[in-house]
Parts: sequence; C-alpha cells; structure tokens
Amino acid sequence: MSEIKRVGVVGAGQMGNGIAHVCALAGYDVYLNDISDEALTKGMETIESNMTRQVSRDMISPGEMSTAMGRINTSTTLDGFADVDLAIEAATEKREVKEEIFKSVCAAVPARTYLATNTSSISITRLAATTDRPEKFIGLHFMNPVPLMKLMEVIRGLATDQQTYEMALGFADRLNKTTTNAEDYPAFIVNRVLVPMINEAVYALYEGVGTVDSIDTAMKLGANHPMGPLQLADFIGLDTCLSIMQVLHDGLADTKYRPCPLLVKYVEAGWVGRKAGRGFYDYRGDAPVPTR
Ligand code: NAD
Repeated sequence: MSEIKRVGVVGAGQMGNGIAHVCALAGYDVYLNDISDEALTKGMETIESNMTRQVSRDMISPGEMSTAMGRINTSTTLDGFADVDLAIEAATEKREVKEEIFKSVCAAVPARTYLATNTSSISITRLAATTDRPEKFIGLHFMNPVPLMKLMEVIRGLATDQQTYEMALGFADRLNKTTTNAEDYPAFIVNRVLVPMINEAVYALYEGVGTVDSIDTAMKLGANHPMGPLQLADFIGLDTCLSIMQVLHDGLADTKYRPCPLLVKYVEAGWVGRKAGRGFYDYRGDAPVPTR
C-alpha cells in the first residue's frame, strides 16, 4: 500500500481548516482548496489562531507550529492536487456540490490517489459511484472542532476495498484519532442520533415548549450535555443540520425525520449559526444573545 505523504483538502470552512490543521501537525504536506479566496484567508487565520492557542497551552511547541503552518498551501485551483496521495472533500453539505467536486478532483489527481469525503450524511456508495475509483473511496467523518475531537467515523461504501479501509485506519492513527465503523446508511451513527435530537429541540422552540435559553439550560443541567442542543446546532451550522435532516427524511422515508419549519426559516434567513454571526443566538456582541 502506498504511503500517504501529501493530502488535498477541498473546502476551507469550519471542517476543512480543522482537517488541514491536524494533517499539517501530523507531518503531511497539505493542499487546501476552496472556491472562495475569502474562505481560504479566513481558514488560514483560524488555523493560526487555533495553533497559537495550542502553543499557549503547551500542547505544541512554537517550532512545531511554524513547521506545520509552512506545510499548508492554499489555492482556489486544484493544481496542487497533481501529487496528493489522499484527497478529502469537506465542502458544503449538498450532494450536487460534492459530485461536481469529485469530478474535478478525479481529473486533477493521479490514479493511485485515495478519495475521501467528510460528509455528515450523504451516501458514500452514491458519491463513490460518481468517481472513476469507487474502490478507493471512503467516508472519513471528522468531528467539530477537528483539532479537539477524538473521534473519526469511518464509513465504507459498497465498493470500498480492504486496502482503502486499512489506509483510513493508518491515517486516523497518525492523526491520533479513535475510529468507529459505521455502515453506509443515512447520517451514519453520530448524526443519526444527534441531529434528530437537535431537530426535536427546534420543535420544542417552535411549539413554545420553551425559550432558547430554557431548552439549552434544561439539556445542559438536566441531561448533563456540555452544550445545549440549540447552541450545538449553531456550532454545527443550521444549514448542515437541515441538510442532514433532509437526507434522513428522504433516505428513510419516515415522518419522524421531518425538518422543523423553524429550522428551515432560520436557514432561509441566512441565520445559519456561529459561522454567520447569528443563529438561535446572536454572536455579534460581546456575549451570545438568544434570538427567541
Ligand atoms: P462550511 O460552510 O464552514 O464550509 C464549507 C466550505 O466549502 C466553504 O468555505 C465553501 O466556500 C466551500 N465550498 C463550497 N463549494 C465548494 C467547491 N465547489 N469547491 C471548493 N470549496 C467549496 O461547512 P463545514 O461545517 O466545514 O462543513 C463541511 C462538510 O463537513 C459538510 O459536508 C458537513 O456536513 C461536514 N461536517 C460538518 C461538521 C460540523 O459540525 N460543521 C461536522 C462533521 C462533518
């Protein structure tokens, strides 16, 4: 099995910059791509400030930080992907967007390159089938924030071969992540359980069972969750939560997965959570303020 030395990451948003961060610290050369120059600039700023925090907590040395920062190359083209051993897609949670990306990635990378997606919910088998190498395609579902969260869900598509699976386990190990296997069904394990819970919290808000504050306080103090479900939804991104509910609803055809109309309304308003400055909370001031 060829060794992974260079990693391409498509999408420099919340997840893509986190994946680039951990790969660079683990010693991989990283090619970070996004369609937006602004996203690349913001992504690099986030990596820099997160690594600076790691230095201040003695988790990494200043030398390790500067070496890792130097390993990350950014571009709005896929030119740097000509020599990557593994390409990880971490772009917007929309099937058509990802399919288009894999078309371009397949044209940009050599035949030996493994392909992975960080999708939260979309069928790995289906995405793999749109590529020229379904046997070298796998789901590597990192958790947010990537540098802090230990888990990586590994999802094999119907055609994924054993070599690709072993590559994924070795890669996770080098990133110091613990893996769990999930079968390729809508939203896999973590989001199959988590996102319907978030959607139910939005229903509780929609039906007036509680305010944003009372729902989050109830779940933090009553269920011992480190974050309330609405706070967590803002952290994940309400657009991503809605896409996951749509995949569950379409893929499992059960009305229990219907997305809450209030979640749809927030996404329509562009109030998609922290990354937009506003969601169930308004983050534009000194402290988050509930929006309902
Ligand atoms: P995000 O909105 O922060 O970032 C998405 C990025 O993709 C943006 O910078 C956008 O410009 C870029 N993009 C869109 N189309 C592109 C294209 N054609 N080529 C290159 N870049 C493109 O979203 P995110 O939270 O980082 O989520 C990314 C992926 O990771 C999604 O599939 C999501 O489901 C998954 N994921 C998210 C979380 C989470 O908690 N947010 C956790 C695990 C997995």
